[in-house]
Formats: sequence, structure tokens, C-alpha cells
Amino acid sequence: MDALVLPGGESTAMSKLLREFELLDPLRERLAGGMPAYGSCAGMILLATEIADAGVPGREALPLGGIDMTVRRNAFGRQVDSFEEDVAFDGLDGSVHAVFIRAPWVERVGPSVEVLARAAGHPVAVRQGRTLATAFHPEMTGDRRVHRMFVESL
Ligand code: GLN
Repeated sequence: MDALVLPGGESTAMSKLLREFELLDPLRERLAGGMPAYGSCAGMILLATEIADAGVPGREALPLGGIDMTVRRNAFGRQVDSFEEDVAFDGLDGSVHAVFIRAPWVERVGPSVEVLARAAGHPVAVRQGRTLATAFHPEMTGDRRVHRMFVESL
């Protein structure tokens, strides 16, 4: 495996499966070793080093690392608070139409993390080396520029 895409979904359910299939430590090791990854929404949560509001202890979302950041789950509110917004995205011409579905935001970034986009003043796209994460779902719009940015960095 050369690189990993962690899609959206539900980070506590994904964490439960990662634990049951004994993938937590292998993935943590590969990410720590520099394997590039792209995570959207729940995938962004998993790529964090620290998760705020991670869920009920024992069934919580588990961080894999990859990007030195704290991500807050469900930060924009409940499912009904999902929204779409055009955001400026560093490195891409024009704005990106971003679909936020019960999305997280980034609350803290380490010194080696670049913030590429913001919504409501919070970072919603970040990159550390060749690992990229967005709080929104670029696959929902047919705009492939974010995925292309990841693939072209490999
Ligand atoms: N709220 C979800 C979670 O906590 C993420 C939602 C999404 O991936 N669209 O994992």
C-alpha cells in the first residue's frame, strides 16, 4: 500500500471496525512512517492526533495520527446543520464548492501543518507533508481538484 484514502462516514463506527480488524496499530505505524493519506470528514477525524468530543468512552473515535492537529467532531452541529459553502482553497484557482455533512472542524494545528481552507473562521482543509484532510466532501460535487492535488503529490 503506497497511500491511503479515508472517506467520510462515521468515525466511531470506523474506529470500531479498525479495532476489530486489528488495523489501528498497523495504520498508525505506516502513517507515522510517512505514508501519504487523504481523509475527508470522518477521515479527517481519524487522521488527527487528537479528537475533541470523540464520543462515549469505549466506543469513541480513535485517532490514527498523520496530521498534528486536534479535530472536533460534529463541530458545525447536528445532521440538520449540514450546509454547502464556496470556500477559497490555497493552491487551487477559484473557490471550491464544499459540502459539509455533520462536519468536523480543526481546532488546533501544529507548526508543520498548513491551513488550506477555512469556514466560519475555522480550518476545514489542512496538509502536513503529503497528508491532506478536508472537513467537507469534494466527491459530492464532481470537482476532482482536491483529489487530484493529493494524487499529484504522491
Ligand atoms: N459526524 C461524522 C463523524 O463523527 C462525520 C460525518 C461525515 O463523514 N460526513 O464521524
